[in-house]
Amino acid sequence: MFVVVAILLYSELVEVYDKIGDTTKRLEITEILVSFFKRCPSDLIGRVVYLTQGRLYPEFEPIELGVAERLIMKCISQATATSESEVDRLYKTLGDLGRVAETLLSKGKRQSTLDSFANPSESSKVTIESVYSSLDAVARSQGEGSQERKLRLIADLIRDATPREALYIVRTIAGALRLGVADMTILDALAITYCGSKSARETIERAYNITSDLGSVATILATEGVEALKKLRPTPGRPIRPMLAERLSSAEEILEKMGGRCAVEYKYDGERVQIHFGEGDAKPHLFSRRLENIDHHYPDVAAIVNGAVASTSYIIEGEIVAIDPSTYELLPFQELMHRRRKYDVEKMALAYPASVRLFDALVLDGQDLTPLPYSERRSRLAKAVHEGPLLRLAEQAIVSDATVLERFFEEAVSNGCEGIMAKSIGPESVYAAGARGWLWIKYKRDYKSELHDTVDLVAVGASMGTGKRAGCLSSLLLAAYSEPEDTFKTVCKCSTGFTDEDLKDMNVRFERYTIPHRHARVDSKLVPDVWLLPSQVVEVLGAEITLSPVHTCGTDAIRKGAGLAIRFPRFTGNWRDDKRAEDATTEAEIIEMYKKQLKKISS
Ligand code: ATP
Repeated sequence: MFVVVAILLYSELVEVYDKIGDTTKRLEITEILVSFFKRCPSDLIGRVVYLTQGRLYPEFEPIELGVAERLIMKCISQATATSESEVDRLYKTLGDLGRVAETLLSKGKRQSTLDSFANPSESSKVTIESVYSSLDAVARSQGEGSQERKLRLIADLIRDATPREALYIVRTIAGALRLGVADMTILDALAITYCGSKSARETIERAYNITSDLGSVATILATEGVEALKKLRPTPGRPIRPMLAERLSSAEEILEKMGGRCAVEYKYDGERVQIHFGEGDAKPHLFSRRLENIDHHYPDVAAIVNGAVASTSYIIEGEIVAIDPSTYELLPFQELMHRRRKYDVEKMALAYPASVRLFDALVLDGQDLTPLPYSERRSRLAKAVHEGPLLRLAEQAIVSDATVLERFFEEAVSNGCEGIMAKSIGPESVYAAGARGWLWIKYKRDYKSELHDTVDLVAVGASMGTGKRAGCLSSLLLAAYSEPEDTFKTVCKCSTGFTDEDLKDMNVRFERYTIPHRHARVDSKLVPDVWLLPSQVVEVLGAEITLSPVHTCGTDAIRKGAGLAIRFPRFTGNWRDDKRAEDATTEAEIIEMYKKQLKKISS
């Protein structure tokens, strides 16, 4: 019997990456991916998807490539038979280790081996599978001798690659591939490749939302078809993409939107956590809003929850909040941020103790609760959890009166919360994984002060300062996220609110996001000094929103030909590193905020 092993050369993927890097059009990126996915064997598609995302595994897997710059330089030095000092010098000039490897190999520098290729710099036999397996071995190599093993594996890979292949291999290892292909673009490409059109997109997206694993969704789709995706259920160990809220700024509007009656809960000012416990687990596992495993940061949180949930396997959600241990009073978010560190975790847990406020149950006793209405999920949560001083359910009330709602809001704020979350209690109030919608509405303290809303915007470009600040980035071109179009649309330029320290670090902070042209997903009429890969999210306080001829956010939504701009934007000091670009304030929210503001002015 023949076993057909489908082989695809890494050079073919390199061609795809080059084409993606050359285009500024999102539809073209989708087409490039579709034509490649169609040629891709079904048992390889998952790996291709991860590699294209610049990773080897889904985000939530705690294994990382984790290769330090120094070691990569050593590998390049060995593979190209070049001194480390020369590699170092080139790195300082080029600022990109991938380019260093590419440059040296294209100059014909290469460590010789007994079985060297006749002319390896022009063509290589490196396959996608072999690149993936080597990188996987690097990532899994631990303990004694692991540095040497990693060095050998990476150096061999570089040595056997063409210059262009080496560029992308090294960037992947350095965690700097950054093709900027959005998850949503990959979902589109998968739908077109395997279902012929975008019609199955919803099913594929749902599968992604409940597994947070694009590679495995791609593999199931390619090997078993779209029907198999429908059978996927939330599983402990795999984070679910979080349900998100819209925002409003008054009790009346909230009640009107909710049909006159809804639940309200305190909106705690901490860090969102999804707590997973599977059969056979010794303790719960914790995932952040960005779906990263944060077990390491909060061993005390796992201990608080462990044994306090009467369920064989579960996924529950809540907020980790810093507390004053002597009074159990809630402390602000900033206190909790001391806990996000690699070392001295135990010491920090004592200095900045945490508590948990639970607000949802997505799986209990293995049963998928996401299709159930909010009230049912909440009551099952209440039944399953044994509350204690450090583990409580979110404060909650059912309201149908604006004055009562307002009073609840004030009580939440005076108890150290950001405001409240209003939640629909209708039969349609499912847990909508990965979606921002009106089933949840946040009502925050900030929105109360007339024109003072904080928004989270994505830096898509930056410009240099003048005078004392010449040569340094000092102003950011910021954009909101358009969910339907999956693009970033500019809404302001921000140059105030940065401290001297922020400004000093600005070049370094943005260096790794600098790209040679406008990113395909950025919609901008303005041309900054440098373009940035949409990645860094910044919190900004605006004075008001106005119609704008130069910004693209909200174009045509209010007046034909005009967009919207945030006037007098000021950086609040909060780099929202906990958010991905797609988690930024949306274009729809900005339009909504503009309309609200008009209403306020006219009333
Ligand atoms: P923000 O920027 O306002 O913190 P966000 O964009 O991170 O919000 P949203 O969905 O807009 O996310 O706001 C909801 C966030 O509020 C949740 O991610 C969660 O961390 C937090 N939160 C605090 N208390 C609650 C609660 N009772 N129910 C739901 N979310 C809550």
